[in-house]
Amino acid sequence: MRVLVVEDEPKMAQLLKRGLVEEGHAVDVSASGEDALWMAGATAYDAIVLDVMLPDLDGFGVCRELRRREIWTPVLLLTARDAVEDRVQGLDTGADDYLVKPFSFSELLARLRALVRRAPGERPAVLEVGDLRLDPAARRAWRGDAELDLSAKEFALLEIFMRRPGETLTRVQLIDGAWDMAFESRSNVVDVYVRYLREKIDRPFGCHSLSTVRGVGYRLEAA
Ligand code: CA
Repeated sequence: MRVLVVEDEPKMAQLLKRGLVEEGHAVDVSASGEDALWMAGATAYDAIVLDVMLPDLDGFGVCRELRRREIWTPVLLLTARDAVEDRVQGLDTGADDYLVKPFSFSELLARLRALVRRAPGERPAVLEVGDLRLDPAARRAWRGDAELDLSAKEFALLEIFMRRPGETLTRVQLIDGAWDMAFESRSNVVDVYVRYLREKIDRPFGCHSLSTVRGVGYRLEAA
């Protein structure tokens, strides 16, 4: 998934980014509330990790403004203290969940997965399309009984396809979902990774589940 991290402390921001990237997610970082509002409006993030303590507009303000602009991306608030008024204020401004610093990274990942699952549109814990199965929490995928050996990027791409089976996805949609802003979007990286993916999920099984839609993009066949 693609995640926006909003945190002004460089060390904490880099820690969050590195951990999420290691899990195969695409991560952008914003050090200010105002920038975060702009980025969240310009890109369809799957989730936003939002620190409450920011130099300009604080996390509560960012969250309130996101919802006022009808941006419904799930928000996980990071608060510095476990005070009731902070939690109440956070949830009242439209945050979906909160985590108190210091937290364990595995809990942050689990809460993000839960948030994305609860987001609009049915998002089951384990995705199934035909005899393909993908478990985002365990980071494992199978074709029938055979487990697939996928790199982090291949896994991220397959997850995007499996969340929208039968839909033709453009290269831009695929890039938005699996690569962050530092990425050069004019390159043919999507085509390259779709080819890798076919070599792992289709060819060994004699399947043709990933179709090329000429001039548009790619589609994972629904059945
Ligand atoms: Ca901060």
